[in-house]
Amino acid sequence: MHMKSYGAALTVTGSMHLLTLGGRQLLVDCGLFQGNDEMDARNRESFDFDVKGLDGVILTHAHLDHVGRLPLLVRGGYRGPVHCTPPTAALVETVLLDSARLQEDGYRMDLRHARRQGRESEVLPPLYEEADVHRTLALLRPDLAFGDTTTVAGVKVTPQRAGHILGSAYLLLDSADGRLLMSGDLGNRESGLQIDFTPPPEVDAVVIETTYANRTHRPWNDTLLEFRDALRSAVREGGKILIPTFAIERAQVILYTLKQLMDAGEVPRVPVFLDSPMATRATNEYFEFGDELIPPVRDALRAGEDPFRPSTLHVVPTSAESQRLNRYDGPAIIMAGNGMMTGGRIQHHLKHHLWKPSTSLISVSYQSPSSLGGRIVTGADHVRIMGEEIAVQAHVHTIGGFSAHADQDDLLAFLGTTGRPHVWLVHGEPEVMDAFVPVLDARGLKGDLVPDRQDVDLLGSGFPQGRPPGVVLDGVADAARAVGGE
Ligand SMILES: [Zn+2]
Repeated sequence: MHMKSYGAALTVTGSMHLLTLGGRQLLVDCGLFQGNDEMDARNRESFDFDVKGLDGVILTHAHLDHVGRLPLLVRGGYRGPVHCTPPTAALVETVLLDSARLQEDGYRMDLRHARRQGRESEVLPPLYEEADVHRTLALLRPDLAFGDTTTVAGVKVTPQRAGHILGSAYLLLDSADGRLLMSGDLGNRESGLQIDFTPPPEVDAVVIETTYANRTHRPWNDTLLEFRDALRSAVREGGKILIPTFAIERAQVILYTLKQLMDAGEVPRVPVFLDSPMATRATNEYFEFGDELIPPVRDALRAGEDPFRPSTLHVVPTSAESQRLNRYDGPAIIMAGNGMMTGGRIQHHLKHHLWKPSTSLISVSYQSPSSLGGRIVTGADHVRIMGEEIAVQAHVHTIGGFSAHADQDDLLAFLGTTGRPHVWLVHGEPEVMDAFVPVLDARGLKGDLVPDRQDVDLLGSGFPQGRPPGVVLDGVADAARAVGGE
């Protein structure tokens, strides 16, 4: 039972783990590195294993940092199946098409700038294009169902609910080598829409994400009250209420919460503009796969209601309509991407409204300190947006409790039923994982950090201090976590 990790090893993004189980090679996830230029460069490295020799690919969920390099795998010659749950397959299409469009747009913009400087030859081509995505989508096999066992290249694969986003699974992998658990990303047991993760059975080894392994989330109810109070005060200010939102899970949780608060009379019914085509598409998938969601949401959907539609919701499809919102008078909630404000339609709303004292900005996502959102929420008085210097005079509210990731209590509860497996830590900052190793030790579990691109015997004895030898910290974990840690 061996593993070599090509991402999310000692960092948070780029999840990709090559497993050798019972003599077969399976790839679990194939995610994009995100966060900064150094991370982007990792996406351009070629695969140093036999891509065509893979016996199969399995996806845990549809976040870009778990699926974003799939088109590169296909470019590299992979033609085999990519197994996942049906909702994951639906979301992967939205995520990869959006990713290709962003790459192509970014390339065209870089090229324009570079031409003026005579440095055209320095511009890197897009990582992949829409045509690569279509070739990738043709390989998707939505044949994994929660609790059912499917045989992939002789390995018995049983997905179970991970409770992180729609369709997210952790994987039980049974082979002649024993039983391995790959956690993917695990959910916050209090988060708004997902059914809690299924308690896992006893296993021989666990590979577990550790994004928030060193902290405890604020109780969900406190987060809702904080959000309500921020909205009330924002409505009183009378200006625009900007909510920068990531498109998958966060957007749906916020829409659902807004509807609940407005229907209960807790928040005035001001117009809500969903200004994100990707969030709109993702919300349609939540609608489509409503049976996967918590009972009140599922039941509302079965009764023909739309729990993601506050009565004042307007969907904004085109960028021309998005621009027209700048001239809309009176208070209104505008939800637009991206959540960290580093790109997307939120930027022109910020440019038009951030300098007005009547505007409110409600941040509901993790903000990397180096991102535009990070600078705004930590009190910058001026920021540069789309080439212009803008004064920050809006009221800024930060709501930190909407995380879709397990905290330390969730992770320990998850591991609580797994027996005495060797625990391998991935998808976390090294200092967070270092802090988690002694917590595991106190519970009689041996925890080890998974090294980057080195073969690991998952049933072996691991490393003396839980830390792989020769680790050089890259110091970019924070930027990476901003995306992967969502
Ligand atoms: Zn995720």
